[in-house]
Amino acid sequence: MKLVLIGPPASGKGTLARFICEDFNLPHISTGEIFRENIKKGTELGKTVKPYLDKAELVPDEITMQVVKERISKDDCKDGYVLDGFPRNKTQAELFEPMAKMDAAIHLNVDLKEIEGRILGRKTCSVCEKIYNTRYYDSDTCECGGKLYTREDDDIETIRRRFAQYETETVPIISHYKNILKTFSGGSTPQDTYEPIKVYIKEILTLDK
Ligand code: ADP
Repeated sequence: MKLVLIGPPASGKGTLARFICEDFNLPHISTGEIFRENIKKGTELGKTVKPYLDKAELVPDEITMQVVKERISKDDCKDGYVLDGFPRNKTQAELFEPMAKMDAAIHLNVDLKEIEGRILGRKTCSVCEKIYNTRYYDSDTCECGGKLYTREDDDIETIRRRFAQYETETVPIISHYKNILKTFSGGSTPQDTYEPIKVYIKEILTLDK
């Protein structure tokens, strides 16, 4: 099962991807996470992409495509995966088309006002990258024991810029996936948002058999 998640920044995509991956036993491929991990480790890739992440700009397509190509060629991806944060624009979607056939595209619909409310409370685990919101989670430590931190790009100015970038760059890929796309409201808690999506994925899996 190859699934792509499409949604604005801070729409709950990352959390949702984790729920899906755990329930359906699929690897979670987050290009943002791969980039951040490489920056943390100080790899060549990390050094190259750091300036883009610092400015919340898109990493050049050529680099992103290479990263994804390598990641999906790994053994754990042979039965499928969940893509989170990729493709991010029409060019990436088109270049990716001959590389893999997606089974479903899940589009999370969340408006900017809700996102602004969320971003102020968002904390990320420094060890496992799990995302929390202080509205629902009142601690500085992750379940895994890691310390939670506020991502540098989690402020109102940046989120507005990233939302605008999402609208111009990423929204066009919704039409690219129109044949396999289903839109869900991402306006409530991650658990509530996930329920209908889980039912939907199960339906697709049953149809597939
Ligand atoms: P978000 O919180 O928006 O989901 P991500 O963790 O997906 O953020 O991405 C963080 C940063 O990594 C982006 O601002 C961008 O610089 C880079 N990035 C992630 N995925 C891509 C992609 N598919 N193409 C280009 N750049 C990307």
